[in-house]
Amino acid sequence: MMLRTRTFNCLRRESSLLPLRSLVARRLASQGTPATSLRSSRQPSKELGDVLADVIKTTGPISVAAYMRQCLTNPDSGYYINKDPFGVEGDFITSPEISQMFGEVVAIWCITEWMAQRRPQQIRLIELGPGRAALLRDMLKAFQSFVPFKSTIVDICLVEASPTLRTAQHSNLCDSAMRETGDGFSSITRYGLPIKWYTNLKEVPRDVTSFIIAHEFFDALPIHQFEHTQHGWREIMVDYSIPEGKTPLSLPGQTRSLDHKPKFNLTVLPYYTPSSKVGPESSSRYKKLPVNAKIEISPESWDVAKDLALRISEQRSPEFPTGSGAALVIDYGPAETIPVDTLRAIKGHHFVSPFEEPGTADLSADVDFTALKSVAEREGHVAVHGPVEQGDWLHALGIGARATVLANQQTTPEGKDRVAKEYHRLVERSGGAMGKIYKVMAFTPGETPTPVGFGGRVVEDDDQGIE
Ligand code: SAH
Repeated sequence: MMLRTRTFNCLRRESSLLPLRSLVARRLASQGTPATSLRSSRQPSKELGDVLADVIKTTGPISVAAYMRQCLTNPDSGYYINKDPFGVEGDFITSPEISQMFGEVVAIWCITEWMAQRRPQQIRLIELGPGRAALLRDMLKAFQSFVPFKSTIVDICLVEASPTLRTAQHSNLCDSAMRETGDGFSSITRYGLPIKWYTNLKEVPRDVTSFIIAHEFFDALPIHQFEHTQHGWREIMVDYSIPEGKTPLSLPGQTRSLDHKPKFNLTVLPYYTPSSKVGPESSSRYKKLPVNAKIEISPESWDVAKDLALRISEQRSPEFPTGSGAALVIDYGPAETIPVDTLRAIKGHHFVSPFEEPGTADLSADVDFTALKSVAEREGHVAVHGPVEQGDWLHALGIGARATVLANQQTTPEGKDRVAKEYHRLVERSGGAMGKIYKVMAFTPGETPTPVGFGGRVVEDDDQGIE
């Protein structure tokens, strides 16, 4: 069977996606950090590449989603499973790793939302994909100054696929040992709170009002890619074959004649599959797209968005007739448009091909905020706010004032300068920087006041936020 193959266009990606995680890479590079020290110490995982090649040779091309899932969370050699990818020595840096201010602001948001919801007396904190737990560490520290809020937290539940990062989270948050339980792992944080780890959100108990944080989690969830051909929607799959030599989309450094060795590459299936029938038919946004249009969709993300919305709606009681709790999603992606061709790989703070050495680079894709919003609104009785740009949201929550206080506490000019740089890095909007590219979206119970950061204001005691 003839398949239309296409290699990964790394050059185009490099220019269009510069402002994302790679921005950090450029900054580090411009600060003179030697490229070699930025490289991950992990050896290329030949094994996963061989396994995936064998699967494709046996059963045919696999979906981009299946490829992504294997590369990121394959239990033996997935990217996140055996390594800690964060920081200068790793592959990328995230906002909470840049400054404590980020976690402090997220903590303030939770408190303002809790106040707006008339202070539920028992709450659970849930974080999806906590990385090294920098965000949670700073949030918990900030909560210590807000005793009425802090004393309502009954426990913390983390959803983490990686045993390595689970260990890092435990050592960043706890002094007590981690115990294996029937359904996950548990410990006690330094602040005396019970904490539990799960590998899937579905396993997290649903009995308590939850404040849920997902920072750079959705971008790691697998996506499917589709192309609208003259014969209908077809899925773009990952093949393992000799790419066609005439393609204008060769990788940088790859000669047109190629080396005639099989490689992973993208291919459009010439026939429909259940996915290509169902996915692009699922929304009017896709149905109206012209021939040659491409889309990325992430049913796994929709599933998580649905779960978050349901958790909020389900916490209904006479006191909270429209539900209680909130979810805060911070990630990168377009506010309205459908993501197209956004699969990317980052290793050692540089873009690399997602198809070289599977399992050794961080794969991610833009988050489709509009899709998450429609799922949440359809599936749960929630109000969806945003997405708004990270810079605007952080400013509305008072990061400017916090940066001033922190800078004033510094005793050296270098310290003051560092705080100023961290602040600018988080809020900067020009040139497609983090303050603009990263977006913030919140799900709250229907009919509660508009949250702070999305146009609302702080609701004081006895004031139900009538605007
Ligand atoms: N929120 C952190 C880390 C972001 S990186 C920060 O901003 O610093 C993505 C995180 O999600 C990692 O902790 C990774 O191990 C986790 N992760 C990725 N895919 C996952 C999945 N399918 N299920 C659970 N956790 C996942």
